[in-house]
Amino acid sequence: MPGEVRIVERPERESSYVRAIGKGLRITFKHFVHADKPTQQYPDEKWELGPRWRGTHRMAVHEDGRAKCVGCGLCPAVCPVNCIKLIPAEDENGERYAAVYEIDEFRCIFCGFCQEVCPVEAIHLGVHYENAEYSRERWVYDLARLCENDHPVTALWDPADPSSE
Ligand code: SF4
Ligand code: SF4
Repeated sequence: MPGEVRIVERPERESSYVRAIGKGLRITFKHFVHADKPTQQYPDEKWELGPRWRGTHRMAVHEDGRAKCVGCGLCPAVCPVNCIKLIPAEDENGERYAAVYEIDEFRCIFCGFCQEVCPVEAIHLGVHYENAEYSRERWVYDLARLCENDHPVTALWDPADPSSE
């Protein structure tokens, strides 16, 4: 629910700082007395995010819980800030998978390139923003944590596929 945008014109003549301070205090006092919920009561109240919100990643999983990533290496190659760490491996059947897959959400700029480039639609950005942490290390999401994330997937920029799944 974005607020109303007001355009304030520059004054033509020199204005008094005293008058400006008085005007500012008058506005402050007006809002103080007639406060019509200027502050959102988070976390009881939350923003409703748009379907194209690009937030915390999540990894799609197979029915048996395995990550869908096939360790192709495209997402770390395309990531403009180099925040994806991938160590691919091959199982006994010659199937590739990610032995190590990490995303540093602190460094990520949420551009969506990783999701766009993924050939198996494994990695997605999520409609999610509540990822505050107390330590820098906790911002590095490993594969297990990415697979556990179950928030909605972003629609990104493909309106023909709103669920992006
Ligand atoms: S959203 Fe962009 S910056 Fe973030 S991990 Fe994906 S490619 Fe990298
Ligand atoms: S692009 Fe997809 S399949 Fe390839 S490494 Fe990234 S998540 Fe895995």
